[in-house]
Amino acid sequence: MAYLDHNATSPLRPEGRAAMERALEIAGNPSSIHAAGRAARGALDRARAQVSALVGAPAGQVIFTGGGTEANALALRGAVEGAAASGERITRLFVSAIEHDSVLATAQALAEQTPGLRLQSVHVDKNGVADVATIRAMLREGKGRALIALMAANNETGVVQPVADAAALARESGALLFVDAVQAFGKSAMDFTADYISLSAHKIGGPQGVGALIVNDAAPLAPQMLGGGQEHGLRAGTQNVAGIAGFGAVAAACVPLDSTLRDRFEEELKRIVPGVTIFGEDAARLPNTSNFALPHIAAETSLIALDLDGVMVSSGAACSSGKVKPSHVLEAMGVSDDLAGCALRVSFGWNSTQADVDAAIAALRRLVARAPAREAA
Ligand code: PLP
Repeated sequence: MAYLDHNATSPLRPEGRAAMERALEIAGNPSSIHAAGRAARGALDRARAQVSALVGAPAGQVIFTGGGTEANALALRGAVEGAAASGERITRLFVSAIEHDSVLATAQALAEQTPGLRLQSVHVDKNGVADVATIRAMLREGKGRALIALMAANNETGVVQPVADAAALARESGALLFVDAVQAFGKSAMDFTADYISLSAHKIGGPQGVGALIVNDAAPLAPQMLGGGQEHGLRAGTQNVAGIAGFGAVAAACVPLDSTLRDRFEEELKRIVPGVTIFGEDAARLPNTSNFALPHIAAETSLIALDLDGVMVSSGAACSSGKVKPSHVLEAMGVSDDLAGCALRVSFGWNSTQADVDAAIAALRRLVARAPAREAA
């Protein structure tokens, strides 16, 4: 079997499993002051240091959450509510058109629920890169404090976004910047600063359901979970000690990926499918991601055929209420619905090998060879 869906979830790294097994032996609640509690607290402190080191932020800025989706919601809702509470209301929310659904849906809901908050979309070019000039113009045109949401790299295409430029604009204009770094974290350099940065453990070989929000000390943040004073009072609830320990261990173990396997895969892909379209190919991309369309073969057909052939990939299309809806990311890049409906994503990770590339290419070759018969039928 070839598992080539690391952007969906990356299998648990042995270092993560070992750290989780050790942490599961700790009986205490990290908020308790007795020895068992202190042992649990020690596991959290270690993980906080390990995660923050990979981002280059102080450990005290890490708030552990129940995953990337929660970290995104905490950033957006926490910023808007926190700013309102301190009298510095956010009135404009700029969100790139290619954000993950957890950001798009939360931003939409926030704008509907918050009087005086205007949501504006930042478009992307045909390579899937957000337009910095649009952000600059939007910042100049309107009045009131702005919050910009721009992901570090897109989950479907792997296209890296101009986050450092957005950070410079935010600094100049007093806007806040939120970066969903769930896909970039641990895969490529994090050479930017932001007020809020969201992370998720399972995209780098850690456990699912664990994430973090890194928050600049000066940035407003209203907690969304109230009760105990955990996570500096910003996310109440007893922490998932084992999961967080696993997150820390994989953050410490992970090394940035290189693009060798992805590049070989695309080279072979172009040989066997001369008309293949590779989305975002001309832009800087994460080293592990390839998003492409096999012309005239619907993504679901390809996914099923590849799966039966032992190769696990994903499609950009989301299936809701029985209807397959083309990816909003490809749509924002101006890709036609027909082509977007044929899009597949291959994503490599820490345990990928050349054998995976070979298996994927062999399976794709068989799929393409069978395609005309299927089309005719
Ligand atoms: N943001 C991005 C860019 C993602 O790719 C994902 C997961 O697919 C998430 C957020 C959500 O993270 P989680 O699955 O930890 O909730």
